[in-house]
Amino acid sequence: FDYAAHLKSAIRTVPDWPQPGVMFRDITPLLQTPRTFRLLIDVFVHRYMDADVDLIAGLDARGFIIGSVLAYELNLGFVPIRKKGKLPFTTVAEEYELEYGNATVEMHTDACRAGDRVVLVDDLVATGGTMMAGYKLLQKLGAEVVEAAAIIELPELKGGELIRTAGLPLYTVCSFD
Ligand code: 5GP
Repeated sequence: FDYAAHLKSAIRTVPDWPQPGVMFRDITPLLQTPRTFRLLIDVFVHRYMDADVDLIAGLDARGFIIGSVLAYELNLGFVPIRKKGKLPFTTVAEEYELEYGNATVEMHTDACRAGDRVVLVDDLVATGGTMMAGYKLLQKLGAEVVEAAAIIELPELKGGELIRTAGLPLYTVCSFD
């Protein structure tokens, strides 16, 4: 059973969204269908169940959907890495570059402890900027990031290359050229 091809076929491509020329990979059909949602989570659970992980960190906002269910299934805690200005307690922040302008992600300073083994989750890796910012935040807090995980990788944008070259293993279920 080619689960990766099955999951890939549940992802919808929306051309010219959010702007002309962009092919947006929309995971909502995958989440909406019970069989593919369960299969996706099962694939991640299978990958990390014996990996001695302490914590799942999810990136705002689609990383929350996958990350929180994964954490629950692995009997682990979940921490959100949020866009700037959303977290109420003391935070650490990391700024990163977007195609136009900058963005900042934040984490609570007590969201993990030094030495915690963390899996970092998002839905998609494009340029890798978002995943790298999350990685840097976790490193600031002394966490050991075991692996980054996403459903989709866009190899043309070389984000996977950037992440892996930085020394962070990256697992993705499928890719789109
Ligand atoms: P990057 O920082 O790697 O350039 O972009 C990845 C981030 O942008 C992820 O948080 C992801 O949710 C979002 N993103 C960018 N393009 C797409 C896309 O085509 N589909 C989805 N689902 N998310 C995208």
